Amino acid sequence: MSIVNIAMCDFCGRTSREVEYMISNGEDKLHICELCINEAKEKVDARHADKVEPEPAEESEAQPEPADADPIEVDAEVIGE
Ligand SMILES: [Zn+2]
Repeated sequence: MSIVNIAMCDFCGRTSREVEYMISNGEDKLHICELCINEAKEKVDARHADKVEPEPAEESEAQPEPADADPIEVDAEVIGE
């Protein structure tokens, strides 16, 4: 292995060549790969869903993934023009 700038995920240890997307903390010291990001997001979403809006037990109707929630909706009201 020669001198190639390969970032390694600090969470799972994958390198930037093993994943398609890697994010650093800006100083290039800490990295997280897309897989860990997705995993973290799922946990955060699950936690939010668990705390903020407890879903009703009845889920007879198959609903799409709650990932469609639009976080920009709240800021949309802050229009000062
Ligand atoms: Zn990772």
